[in-house]
This record gives sequence, structure tokens and C-alpha cells, in this order.
Amino acid sequence: MHKPCCCADLIDCLDAFTDEVLDEVRRAEIEQHVLNCPHCRAIIRRELRLRQRVRECNQYSAPVQLRAKVIMRLRTTHLQAR
Ligand SMILES: [Zn+2]
Repeated sequence: MHKPCCCADLIDCLDAFTDEVLDEVRRAEIEQHVLNCPHCRAIIRRELRLRQRVRECNQYSAPVQLRAKVIMRLRTTHLQAR
């Protein structure tokens, strides 16, 4: 059985997790990890907020490329803030 769940694992499936396309088992593993790992909790929270913003952008029918740019910019901003 696949052993959960180091931080790198979490990063790997972060996109799937926040897009809510992850299978149940994996998702449970991640949720479990997040409970015990403040670092990943912060990452997930930020990522979910990011999705939220992108979704808001969608309401104004932002083109895909622009959305990608927004995501890149937000990620970069965060990295610089660390
Ligand atoms: Zn972690």
C-alpha cells in the first residue's frame, strides 16, 4: 500500500486536490497529512484561495491565458513574500 504522505507527495497532487478531482483515498491521505502539517495546511489554504480568485475571474470571462498569468503572478508573489 502506498504510504502517505510526505510534503512532496502533497505538492504533487495539490492541483488535483484543489480541483477536487482527486480520488477518495488519496484525498483522505492528504487531509490527514494536512491536519498534522501546518506547512502544507498553509499551502493548501493558499491554493484554495487562489482557485477562488481564479473562479471569480472566470465570472468576468477572463481568457485562459490571462488566468494562467494570474496564477503565475500570485504564485510568484507568494514565493517572493517568503
Ligand atoms: Zn507537509
